[in-house]
Amino acid sequence: MALKIEKIDDCRWRIIKEGAMRTEGLIFASEQLMETLRHEQALEQVRNVATLPGIVGPSIAMPDIHWGYGFPIGGVAAFDPDEGIVSPGGVGYDINCGVRLLRSALNVEEVRPHLKNLADTLFRNVPAGIGSKRRDLKLTIAQERQVLQQGARWAVEHGFGNEEDLRHIEEGGVIPGADPDLISERALERGRAQLGTLGSGNHFLEVQRVDQIGDEKAAEALGLYPGQVTVTIHTGSRGFGYQVCDDYLRLMLRASQKYGIELPDRQLCCAPLSSPEGRQYLAAMACAANFAFANRQLITSWVRESFEQVFGKNAAELRLSVIYDVCHNIAKMETHQVAGRTRRLCVHRKGATRAFPPGHPETPEAYRHVGQPVLIPGDMGRYSYVLVGTQGAFEETFGSTCHGAGRMLSRHAAKKRARGHNIVAELAEQGIIIRAAGRATVAEEIPEAYKDVMDVVNVVQQAGIGKIVARLRPMAVIKG
Ligand code: 5GP
Ligand code: MN
Ligand code: MN
Repeated sequence: MALKIEKIDDCRWRIIKEGAMRTEGLIFASEQLMETLRHEQALEQVRNVATLPGIVGPSIAMPDIHWGYGFPIGGVAAFDPDEGIVSPGGVGYDINCGVRLLRSALNVEEVRPHLKNLADTLFRNVPAGIGSKRRDLKLTIAQERQVLQQGARWAVEHGFGNEEDLRHIEEGGVIPGADPDLISERALERGRAQLGTLGSGNHFLEVQRVDQIGDEKAAEALGLYPGQVTVTIHTGSRGFGYQVCDDYLRLMLRASQKYGIELPDRQLCCAPLSSPEGRQYLAAMACAANFAFANRQLITSWVRESFEQVFGKNAAELRLSVIYDVCHNIAKMETHQVAGRTRRLCVHRKGATRAFPPGHPETPEAYRHVGQPVLIPGDMGRYSYVLVGTQGAFEETFGSTCHGAGRMLSRHAAKKRARGHNIVAELAEQGIIIRAAGRATVAEEIPEAYKDVMDVVNVVQQAGIGKIVARLRPMAVIKG
């Protein structure tokens, strides 16, 4: 069935409610982005999500939307705790994939002469690649269970980072209610070997320089200034989260039948939030989310170590502090205002970032007057953005915004495009050093594989669901 889409304004579009849809679809896109989106199955996925029981508000699509398992990547959907559902497809396979940004006291001139050494050192100290393992971090099952319950705190308590770091992570780096008893042997097995690894493909570790400031006041609050060197870490829960998702999809397929939930697509399988299956998924998902928080915390510690080795300075001098760490694949119980009423809702953000406004109690004190930091990677050749959340996002998108540039070419198409090019050499000519575990990764991840993230963040800023604070340029990129 063809979708009925109408333009609302220069950055909003509506998928008109019809058929089994319980609500309308709301797409954030410019005219130009909409042109490419129209041909994508992702918009049908936005419609499919709108048919799910207990959805509150519209089924939302961000400008970086593209096709995903069941739910689109770049989608936001909120559900009522009594009438609504929770769905693993609304979170994604990489549970709590997310982004962490570190600032430093170094500037680009100090780093440039040591960049090669820094890239090599980071590449050595942070395991990357498919199935990569860190050999000197052997966990017992008992320890792994602690990681699943304590998240980033576990890492800090074992000497990887400090209390200050925890204050600058979404949810303080630990989602409550995690129950390791709900985790399969296989997931535990995969997780034990992969904690403290970057993974492959889209995951990366990037040394950057601050290139432009979009909002002076917010930049100052976040401790960002032009020419400063920053580090971005993008990774998630690795094979552990993947296995949890896989395990629970099976349970959810049965649950959908059991509770008589009609699904336009089996990949949307879900369970009522009030059912044992729904609660079990959330408790297992929390384990994976905490695994990912611990993962980014460990990697942060090795980044600090690498900088100390290369620059021969100590932590106090380098001041590699966590600006913020956000999830972009998660479902969480949150408090929102809907039509003037305070409601608890289960907000699914899949390829979408929380973007809470100034004054929100969950935003760290240092940023409370400017809004929650939002981290939007672009690609390894062009730039990435730092934004802050807005009141507009809180009112219109359950405090959410985009999460990246969004893929434009399939991995296959990207490889084809890269043929005959030496991507590493071409980027080196622009002063960007790439270290990758796999050759194929570089071809699949060429900048042209992604939309221009500037187009994406311009839409969210224009729509008022995010405010641009700074632009970051890549200097050295570690890819899996
Ligand atoms: P995802 O979580 O959807 O896999 O990726 C989030 C976003 O990261 C992508 O949409 C893309 O814009 C961005 N991205 C992927 N690889 C890189 C990279 O190497 N460097 C930077 N800065 N961004 C990247
Ligand atoms: Mn991921
Ligand atoms: Mn991600």
